[in-house]
Amino acid sequence: MELKAVLSAIDGYRDEMVQTLVEFCRIPALDPGSGGEGELKKTEWLQRKLLLYGFGAERCDAKDERVPSGIRPNLIVRRGEGKQRLWILSHVDVVPPGNLKEWPHDPFDPVVKDGKIYGRGVEDNGQACVASLFALKALKDCMIEPPRPVAVAWVADEETGSYYGAQHIIREGMVKKGDWLVCPDWGTAKGAEIEVAEKNILWLKFTIHGKQEHGSRPDKGINAHRAGADLIGRLDKAMHQRFGGKDPIFVPPFSTFEPTKKESNVPNVNTIPGEDVFFFDCRILPRYRNNDVLATVRQQVNAVKKAHKVKVDLGIVQNESSPPTSVNSPLVAVLGKALRTVRKVEPKIVGIGGGTVAAYFRRAGADSVVWATGDETAHSTKEHVKIDNLVADAKVFAAMMLAD
Ligand SMILES: [Zn+2]
Repeated sequence: MELKAVLSAIDGYRDEMVQTLVEFCRIPALDPGSGGEGELKKTEWLQRKLLLYGFGAERCDAKDERVPSGIRPNLIVRRGEGKQRLWILSHVDVVPPGNLKEWPHDPFDPVVKDGKIYGRGVEDNGQACVASLFALKALKDCMIEPPRPVAVAWVADEETGSYYGAQHIIREGMVKKGDWLVCPDWGTAKGAEIEVAEKNILWLKFTIHGKQEHGSRPDKGINAHRAGADLIGRLDKAMHQRFGGKDPIFVPPFSTFEPTKKESNVPNVNTIPGEDVFFFDCRILPRYRNNDVLATVRQQVNAVKKAHKVKVDLGIVQNESSPPTSVNSPLVAVLGKALRTVRKVEPKIVGIGGGTVAAYFRRAGADSVVWATGDETAHSTKEHVKIDNLVADAKVFAAMMLAD
């Protein structure tokens, strides 16, 4: 009965939710790393809205001298006390609009058309910001206390690393071991896919030092490019061989080890390059440890040093890993049940290539899922959300808050 009342309250908010998302996304919140002033104005707008709806919100701000206010705001509404708090965490900041000529309208003046809302930040991550707000409102308006402790958070700095946002609230001890997190920052069109795991990320930079020489005199030089090419081949083979396991929840279902960026060496054809720089982007199944991959990399580096008489510098550009959330986690069951009841879809458990804030929460000991419904238009000039999804996601959040 409670769920029915809450769902019908959310249906009644439909127009208000659209208006809220439009007004919310009129306030740009660009990270200083993208040349912006941060999130304060947008977060304060949201905080006033919360007050209007009768919620006292807490702030857990981070200091950042790069923005005029000096503050990167994190806004949190907590209801109830106890263990295993359910967090719904979305982010307020957005990416820059990019080339304005490619936008049919002002990216920061969202347009409502044919059941959709178009604008920068509406999908990433405005839909979740507004849907979670109205899930809270529905419970309050129906005078229902959630049976479990709940927190809804609107954080800063997701697009440029989360140091001042999700990571900050974890550092401040807001999130406890055993808490649950829903991160509605990725999803598919039907809203059936629940992300429980991310591949480890390992980004490596290789700098090969040889000896530059005229193109006609390889006998006098040491070709760094040839040594680099040899190293790429050896790395490719060794890493795929040693870390070749499969896990069907991921797409693709295996670890990937890709040579990607290549810096230019010599500008002309007739010089043997004395230096060669390239990068690898490795996405590793969570069953493997990045340190073991690094040990394999170092073996290959040593082999190439010997074979080519070169020096090799190995730089670690990024090294991230987080334990997966078990497919048997009760959080997965609660979300799965909400999807079956409210959305009539059969949930599908998936893993992705890495890179959401869920990884920080998993490391902090909180079971975490990434889930939302969307057309995956984030960061594009066609960024939009369907109003139906905005409303439906609010219902799923409310159903999760009601689960015991
Ligand atoms: Zn996002």
